[in-house]
Amino acid sequence: MRLRTIAVCFVACLWVAPLYAQTSAIPQLNSRGGAAYTLYLNFGGFNYSGTWFGDTPGATASYDTNGNTAIFTASEKTDIQKIWSRTADKYAAFNVNVTTVDPSIAAGQSASDIQRQTYYDNTSKLMHMVIGGDGAWAGGGGVVGISGVGVAETTITGGLHTNWSFSNNYVSGGTAFHQGIAETIAHENGHALKLQHQSRYSGTTNVEEYDSGTAARAPIMGNSDNAERGLWRKGTSTLGFNVIQNDVGVLLSNAGIAGSGAAGFVDSGVGHTRATATTLALTGNTINSASSKGIITPNNTDPNPLGEANYTTDFFKFTFGAGGGNVNVTLRSGLSTITAGVADEGATLDATLRLLNASGTVLATANSATFAETIAMSNLAAGTYYLQISSAGADAQYFDMGSYFLTGTIAPVPEPAAVLLIAAAGLGLYSRVRRYRTAA
Ligand SMILES: [Zn+2]
Repeated sequence: MRLRTIAVCFVACLWVAPLYAQTSAIPQLNSRGGAAYTLYLNFGGFNYSGTWFGDTPGATASYDTNGNTAIFTASEKTDIQKIWSRTADKYAAFNVNVTTVDPSIAAGQSASDIQRQTYYDNTSKLMHMVIGGDGAWAGGGGVVGISGVGVAETTITGGLHTNWSFSNNYVSGGTAFHQGIAETIAHENGHALKLQHQSRYSGTTNVEEYDSGTAARAPIMGNSDNAERGLWRKGTSTLGFNVIQNDVGVLLSNAGIAGSGAAGFVDSGVGHTRATATTLALTGNTINSASSKGIITPNNTDPNPLGEANYTTDFFKFTFGAGGGNVNVTLRSGLSTITAGVADEGATLDATLRLLNASGTVLATANSATFAETIAMSNLAAGTYYLQISSAGADAQYFDMGSYFLTGTIAPVPEPAAVLLIAAAGLGLYSRVRRYRTAA
């Protein structure tokens, strides 16, 4: 990154590019408006005043991938949305608003960076995450402030609530950078919500402080930069080979919603039983995916990753008339905020989809290892049917939780033509047609 910065200077040596892009060009995104805890992702650059845990961060330029920090290209705006979406899904079960909207503006405290900084520092349950630069002053992919074990800066009024994700390190490092940046943001905010690292031990020896898991899954509080899924985990923490940290339990304690959904997790409003099933939203025969969505969460105050029964279950219902119908439904894990009906990158939920009839008998189950489960059935009889969405809950360590949405078709079949003809004959229409044709 330093090389690239020098190159820009030679090319445009008489023009000093502004450090900050127009913040009005940043996509304005909120994952849970009004939530108690705010994670503000600041892609627009920031000039930090004073010292931060003994360092002097100074100015960080806007998020940038094309060597021009003064503007956001279309590609950079898409990056911003992808990074936001990945982070949002990891916190979807909690009372957290992952946002790109600067809360200091609504508070009337955005006249200058120092005024913004003072506002952030004096607002509890708020993290201001600066995303940009190479963080040469600190090193690594990102930094967060924690006063001590179990004490998070962002829960303290008068703490140091600005933190950093050094996005340029991911660009220059050749990592799939949307993922690396988002996993870093989720990780650092996990620290802000009092999580320690998830570590790997050999016997009593910590052999990998940032446990990198497997290619399929890795702990967010370890190193999930390259795994297919970065997940919350119940596993050995850096505090000791025999100290198990339940990430989701800790997050629930610090960002739960008392009296809300199951055990204090969010409730996305979809019915959790057949009796309370949500009517599937259709546009013609097509499922309206924008409103046919939900969040699967654990359902226990001592969250347990293993087993479908330890998570919430959602139900949607639909009804076929006398002609019956055909079903072709796909359950997709993740959010869909960039292209309607297409999952954004970085889904966290591994789900199971079932089709049930009116009496609750399971007609079909889809529970592949992928993040899209499809059930297609033809010639279903008249009646009410249910789509059941559950967590696979297949792993004793990693939590299968997060957002999903439905796509596909629910197609009623018109009554067969023969039936219409018989009905027509009954009315005398059939014979009249025959007489007309004979006469012609
Ligand atoms: Zn860390």
